[in-house]
This record gives sequence, structure tokens and C-alpha cells, in this order.
Amino acid sequence: MRERSIGWPTFVALFAVLLLLGLIGWLFNAPLEMIGVGAAGLLFWHYQHMRRLSSYLWRDKRFSPPDGAGSWGVIYDGLYRLQQRNRRRRKDLAKLLKRFRQGAEALPDGAVVISADRTIVWSNQLAQRLLGLRWPEDAGQRIDNLIRHPDFVRYVSNAERSEVMVLPAPGEAMRMVEFRMMQYDNEQILLMVRDVTQWNRMEQMRRDFIANVSHELRTPLTVVQGYIEMLEDPQALPPEMWQKAHGMMLEQTRRMDSLVSQLITLSRIEAAERSDLDHEIDVPSLLNIISEEAKALGAEKAMQITLEVESGLNIKGDLMEMRSAFSNLIFNAVHYTQPEGEIDIRWYSQNGNACFLVSDNGDGIGAEHIQRLTERFYRVDRARSRKTGGSGLGLAIVKHALSHHSSKLKIQSSLTVGSTFSFVIPAELVVKK
Ligand code: ADP
Repeated sequence: MRERSIGWPTFVALFAVLLLLGLIGWLFNAPLEMIGVGAAGLLFWHYQHMRRLSSYLWRDKRFSPPDGAGSWGVIYDGLYRLQQRNRRRRKDLAKLLKRFRQGAEALPDGAVVISADRTIVWSNQLAQRLLGLRWPEDAGQRIDNLIRHPDFVRYVSNAERSEVMVLPAPGEAMRMVEFRMMQYDNEQILLMVRDVTQWNRMEQMRRDFIANVSHELRTPLTVVQGYIEMLEDPQALPPEMWQKAHGMMLEQTRRMDSLVSQLITLSRIEAAERSDLDHEIDVPSLLNIISEEAKALGAEKAMQITLEVESGLNIKGDLMEMRSAFSNLIFNAVHYTQPEGEIDIRWYSQNGNACFLVSDNGDGIGAEHIQRLTERFYRVDRARSRKTGGSGLGLAIVKHALSHHSSKLKIQSSLTVGSTFSFVIPAELVVKK
């Protein structure tokens, strides 16, 4: 819009009109009266426009100001221009706000803006989900009225806001959330919320794992250390004690060695890529070798081991992982079955899949333990498992090895009757010769 303003020309024009009226009045011998009438008309005209302006400013719902000529036209145009500019600015601001909100919604964490008196100003959807906030109903509510955990109430009222706080999510005791508060001006506080359930679980697992490994290594180490101290003066030790000490130390070092090998196997399997399944494994030959080893292992207990394999039934997979899976399951059957027990190993195809099964008529396992058997270091009877040299890692290794081959371990067992461990390798990994 072209710039217009009220300046000297307006004043000169006004003066000229009054002068002209004075001249006309002079012709009729009444110059002052004529100027008076002109000035009154002018005053009335201004009054009319002022009325229109005030009613437009205070009452009118119209967007554009009234029309007007002369100096009032200039004022109305100026007002219109001001309004247009405000409108544009408002639009730009709304766009900016929208973009900011979209950005805040895209944040991987929940965000809640609270004011200094702890009322909720705004929150993104993730925060609403994590904290169970209803939106927009909860806007303006005090956050410590909605999340009433005493630690949280203390946390939000604390000026020391740099630390983080981890608490169970409101209404969901199993989910853990981490809060972090940041004051970004005197009035507003940004509360960031993050779901740390998984991280907490992993952290707990890591702690348990380290505690378990240390414990498992400590027991044999203590035994070996005790014997080494006894051997400080070999003369003082009778020969039969010597032999016992030697046997025990050998047994305990073997235990440590077996534990470390199992740990290495487990970490290798856990770290392995799922895609390394190109090698063809001759499962019948592998099972023959493992069952011979099992026979040697169970020779003292006079076990009866039968092996039934479908010849030519091979699979694609990782040899080391599958050998670990087969041997752990078969050796466990030998370890946890009483003397003269019977063990049945089978490998056969069914609907294109390959099935493995090892059953024994040994101790069996109580139903309450079955779910947890594949956890690392889980053992039903620690003392018994130790005697067999078990570390509690065998079935964890089996579980991981099988999951790499798209398979799952199935355990059926009843106390004193025996156990059956089985799994199915899916058809896409089966190679039938
Ligand atoms: P371990 O090294 O102690 O054998 P595993 O992970 O291989 O550890 O097995 C976990 C536990 O499961 C064993 O301690 C044992 O109590 C139980 N278990 C495994 N196989 C059998 C089985 N065939 N019969 C009875 N119990 C078994």
C-alpha cells in the first residue's frame, strides 16, 4: 500500500476551504457567520468519523475498518495496514509454534513444560503415554497432584534440579521412567521423561551376571588356594593326602576351565550374526560322535543309550552352535539320570521339518523350575549340578544357538519319571539327501 500521511497540505486545504467560505460570506456581507457555519460542519464531520472509529474499535466484529475520505481515509488505511501486518505476524508465529510442537512430538523422550507453581503448561504425546496424563484435561493441573510418588513430589519441589531421578511409572509398577528437570527461565521448567525399563533390566542382568561369574570362580579358587597353602611344606604332608590334594586341584581347575569355555561359547553365540547359516551340517554323523562320547561319559553308570537317526537328514547352520546344542542336551541327560537309566536320542523329519528329541528316565524337573532353566546360571539343585561339573550355562547356550536357527527348546518333564528336551529345525534350513 502506498504511504499516505496527514501533513501541511491537509492543513493548507482546510485553511483554503475556510478562506473560500469567508470570501463567499464577504459577498453576502456575512464572512464570519459563513466561516462559523463551515467550522461547525467540519467539526460535525470529524465527530461522525470519531464515532465510527470508536464503534469500530470497541464493538464492530468486522475485520476491515470503515471507509472514509480525506484525512480520515488516511487514518483508516493506516489502521487496515496495521491489522494486515499483525495478522501476518500472528500467522508466522502460529506456524513457528506448530513447527516447534511437531519437533517436540518427534523427540524420542517425553517432555512436559511446567510453570514455577508446578502446573502443567504443555506436554508431548510420549510424556502423556509414559505418565498417564490426559490431554487437554490435565493442562493447568499441578503435576505433583497427578504423580503422587513421595520421591517425585520432593524432586519437583527441590531447587537442586540437575540430577536425574528414576521411579516406577505412575500406575505401571513394572515400567521404570527417568525424570530430568531443566529450568529454562524464571517461570518455566522443562521436565524430560524417558522409559528406562529395558536399560534397568539390562543393568540388573549385567550385575547378576558378574556376581554369578565371580561366585562360580571363587569356589574352586578357594579350594585350590587351600591346597596350595597346605603344600607349602610338602614334607609335612602324608603321601595319601598329596594324592587327594592333587586330585582335588585337578578337578577344580577343570571346573574353572569348563566354566570359562562355556562363557566363551555363550558370548560367541550371543555376538554371532543370524545370517551365518550357510554351512551344511551332517547331523547324523555329528549325533553318532556325540552319542559315543555320551556312552563313554555314562559308562560307569551303565547307562543304556539308544540312537535313532534318519540318514541323510542334514541342516544348514553353524556347526559350533549346533554341536553345543546337541551335546549339552545329551550330556545333561547322562548327568541327571540315575545309574542304569535309559536315554533315547532321535533325529527325524516331520512335515519337511527336522526334529530332535532326547528323553531320559532320570530325576525329572519340578514344574516350577522349567520356565527358568534356560536362564544363565540357573540350576535346580546347585550341589548336584556342581558334582556333575555343571556351570548352569548349558541350556542358556542351547537356547541362543537354537534361536539363531529359528528354533525353540521345548522341555517336558515330571519328577522321578524323566525329561524330554526337543526342538524343531524349520524346513527352510533342512537339507534332505
Ligand atoms: P548345568 O551346567 O548345571 O547342567 P544347564 O543349563 O545345562 O546347567 O541345566 C540347568 C539345570 O537344568 C541343571 O542344573 C539341572 O538341574 C536341570 N537339567 C538339565 N537337564 C536335565 C535333565 N535331563 N534332567 C533333569 N534335570 C536337568
